[in-house]
Amino acid sequence: MADPIPFRPRPRPAARSVVVVGAGIGGLACAIALRRAGLTVQVVEQARKLKEVGAGLQLTPNATRILRDFGLLTRLEQVAVTPRSLDVRNGYSGASLTRAHYGPAATRYGAPFLVVHRAELQALLAEAAQAEGVHIALGSDLTAVEPAFGGVRAVVKQGENLVAHGADILVGADGVRSDVRAHLGVARPPVFAQRLAFRATVPVPPRHPPDVRLYLGRNAHLVAYPVKGGAMLNLVAIVRQMEPVARWSAPGDSAAVHAAFADWAPEVRRLLESASHFLCWGLYDIEPLPRWSSGRVTLLGDAAHAMLPFLAQGAAQAIEDAAALARALGRESDAATALKAYEAERLPRTARIQSEARRNSMIYHLSGAPRLARDLVLRRQGAGLLDRYGWIYGG
Ligand SMILES: Cc1cc2nc3c(=O)[nH]c(=O)nc-3n(C[C@H](O)[C@H](O)[C@H](O)COP(=O)(O)OP(=O)(O)OC[C@H]3O[C@@H](n4cnc5c(N)ncnc54)[C@H](O)[C@@H]3O)c2cc1C
Repeated sequence: MADPIPFRPRPRPAARSVVVVGAGIGGLACAIALRRAGLTVQVVEQARKLKEVGAGLQLTPNATRILRDFGLLTRLEQVAVTPRSLDVRNGYSGASLTRAHYGPAATRYGAPFLVVHRAELQALLAEAAQAEGVHIALGSDLTAVEPAFGGVRAVVKQGENLVAHGADILVGADGVRSDVRAHLGVARPPVFAQRLAFRATVPVPPRHPPDVRLYLGRNAHLVAYPVKGGAMLNLVAIVRQMEPVARWSAPGDSAAVHAAFADWAPEVRRLLESASHFLCWGLYDIEPLPRWSSGRVTLLGDAAHAMLPFLAQGAAQAIEDAAALARALGRESDAATALKAYEAERLPRTARIQSEARRNSMIYHLSGAPRLARDLVLRRQGAGLLDRYGWIYGG
C-alpha cells in the first residue's frame, strides 16, 4: 500500500490586511505591491487632495525595474522622459567635465533611467492602486497606533471625527517626520544638512538637449533635466545655508537664488532667470535607525531612511522597500517574523545609501585643490561614471 499523503496544513499567510499611513510615492508603491500579493490594503493620507508637491524625480533602473513588474512602465514612459546622458559641468565656465550615456547603462542594468514629475508618478501610482481595489482615505490624519484584536489599528482624525482602521499590519510610509516612527520608540529627529533646495519648472530653452545636466560650484550646484514629456525643464538649485528654514517647504526667495549663482556661467544664470518663482525645501535626512519594526508595525520610505537627494534615491528606495515587504509577507507565515525579515533585508542597504548621499553632498560643493582633484577623477571616470553606483542600479 502506498504511503498515505502526509497532512500538511497550508501555512497561514503572515497577514491578510494592511493599513498604510501616507500616500506618497512609498505608500502608494507599497499599496500596489501588497495588493498584488493578495492582501487587502487601505491607505490613510492626511492631505485632502493628492496635489502637486515636489517637482522632478530621477528614477534609476532599480526603481523602474520594479515599476515594470507592477505593469506600469509603459504608462510611466508616456509621461516621463528617457534622458540621453548625464552631463557633469563646471558651473562657472559651463564646460563639460564628463559625460555618461544612459542607454548602454540601462541595457547593463536591465531597465531604463527616466526623469518624471513627482505629481505624475504619484497620480499614476494612485490610479493603479485604486484600480487594484486599494481604498485611499484622504483627509485622514493619523493620531494614534493601537493594538486591536490580535492586529493593529490606525486612529485618524477625519474632520471632527476620529475613525479607526483595523488591519493585521500597519506600515508607516508617512515621510521624514513620521508619527509612526515616533510610535515605534525609535524617534530620530531629522538632521538639517545646511543645504536648501530651490526647485522650479521652466520652459525648455531652444536646442536644449534631453540630458540630465549637473553644474558644480563652490557651496552650490544646479541640476536641470526635462519633465512633462519633454515640455518643461526641472531645475533644482542647491545652496548652502547654516540656518534651517522655518517651514518644511515654502515659496523660495528668488533674489537669494540669483545672488548665490551671480558669478556662474551665463547658461546657468539664464536658466535660473527663466523661473517665475521657486519653491524652497530645507534638506534633511535621518541617522540610520536601529530597527524599523515592532510587532505588527513597520516603516517604509523616508519614514524609515530619509536621505539627502544627492544620489536621487529617496523615492527609488521607497519603491524597493515596497517590493521587499511584499516578498517577505509572501514568504513568512508569521507577521512579526515577516516584518523583521523585511527590515533585515532593507536596513543595511538603505543605511549605506544614506551615508553615500551625505558624502556626495560634500563632494559636489568642494572648492580649491580638492575640487581640482574631484574634477580629475570625474574626467577619468567618463562613461564609467554611472557604474560607480552599479551596486545601487543593479541591486
Ligand atoms: C530636492 C529633492 C530632490 C529629490 N530628487 C529625487 C530623485 O531625483 N529621485 C528620487 O528617487 N528621490 C528624490 N528625492 C527624494 C524623494 O522625493 C523622497 O525620498 C520620496 O518622495 C519619499 O517618499 P515617501 O512616500 O517615503 O514620503 P513622502 O513623499 O514624504 O510621503 C509621505 C506621505 O505621508 C503623509 N503623512 C504624513 N504624516 C501623516 C499623518 N500623520 N497621517 C496621514 N498621512 C500622513 C504625507 O502627507 C505624505 O503624503 C528628492 C527629494 C528632494 C527634497
